[in-house]
Amino acid sequence: MIPAVRGTRDILPGETERWAFVEGTARRLFEQYGYFEIRTPIIEREELFAKGTGETTDIVQKEMYSFIDKGGERITLRPEATPSLVRAFVEHALEQSMAVPKLYTLGPMFRYERPQKGRYRQFHQLDVEVFGVKDPSVDGEVIDLAWALVRALGIEHVELAINSVGCPECRPAFTRALVEALGRDVEKLCGDCRRRAETNPLRIFDCKVPADQPIIDRLPHTVDYLCDACRVHFDAVRADLDVYGIPYHVSHRLVRGLDYYTRTTFEVLAGHLGAQNAVLGGGRYDGLVRQLGGPDRVGIGFAAGIERLVLALPAELPVAPPVPDAFVAALGDQARREALALLRDLRRAGLNAQFDYEGRTLKSQMKRADRLGAPLVLILGEDELARGQVTVKRMATSTQEPVPRHEAVALVARERAARRAAATR
Ligand code: AMP
Repeated sequence: MIPAVRGTRDILPGETERWAFVEGTARRLFEQYGYFEIRTPIIEREELFAKGTGETTDIVQKEMYSFIDKGGERITLRPEATPSLVRAFVEHALEQSMAVPKLYTLGPMFRYERPQKGRYRQFHQLDVEVFGVKDPSVDGEVIDLAWALVRALGIEHVELAINSVGCPECRPAFTRALVEALGRDVEKLCGDCRRRAETNPLRIFDCKVPADQPIIDRLPHTVDYLCDACRVHFDAVRADLDVYGIPYHVSHRLVRGLDYYTRTTFEVLAGHLGAQNAVLGGGRYDGLVRQLGGPDRVGIGFAAGIERLVLALPAELPVAPPVPDAFVAALGDQARREALALLRDLRRAGLNAQFDYEGRTLKSQMKRADRLGAPLVLILGEDELARGQVTVKRMATSTQEPVPRHEAVALVARERAARRAAATR
């Protein structure tokens, strides 16, 4: 056997229903908030992420799946969606064709990380982005959408952390204060942090190495160094969250692992997920569109990990794997032909009908119907054919009755409607 690649996984029947529930709930919410779906390629030019995600980020330095294709192009399997959506926004001048460019997408992302529970090399994200709105009320709306998503999924024990990382105006003063506060302690930090201190000191806040934590905890906070415009913006976002009634706390360490964030950053954490407890994260990226060669347009968005949302779902869900409405059992060649016609009629009527391909004994056909969970079995044998009937067996009560062939489809449809009505009561 050739096993799946490390860090990837199959999503099996039984689990796919939970995925469909997450994706369906998200789509409905996103559309309700005015987002339109976009699908971009999984492969992009490597430089899109080098420039977009940022040369100094862990993603670009260590985690990208990049290769040179047969035409000599440097290609990357996308590690995140934002740069792709920015590229598409610019490439297709979407601000001209859309009243407000509010986009969502979903699909696989690839990062060469150390796999563990909730962390994979191929994982999946739901992603939303809004372009061109500077007003802080869009920050509040995007966070409200993120919150609405976890609520609609019934995920409990969630908390919202927010922060402001400032802008190119105020960031340099903060970075200087940070480096100054670190002083000699920089030599006590891990190798990654020593490198970050040189290239992108803000990133030190992302460090998870236990020995570094006491030093990091003593560092200054971005919110104490915001310029006036950033402070006003942050206060407005917080006021909106109060209006929405969304509880949050300000997390000074929340700078997020990517280079492009400005001002608002946020994350939703699910308490019961263990080490990989961030279910979604996002923020504002006011310089990214221009940095990627587009017009001077701001942006904000978030990405949620579908694996983690699925892991955090309540055990009991209003979703169930598809179950047949009826199983058709046939005995003998002639009955088999009639059974195919009956299957066709049931399916054309929109019903889920299953069959035993191998034409085995009635007993083994019944067994299969039972394993599939079919509530009704429609039996066709020589007698039924002669009388223009089918025998309908109700599996729950093991009772059976003859029904005219031409009424069989309507009966299965009625039974299904009754089952559905009972399930929603
Ligand atoms: P990021 O793009 O790093 O901000 O991540 C956004 C969300 O994607 C996180 O909150 C996680 O839910 C999810 N995520 C990121 N990396 C992984 C991974 N390697 N495996 C599974 N989920 C991930």
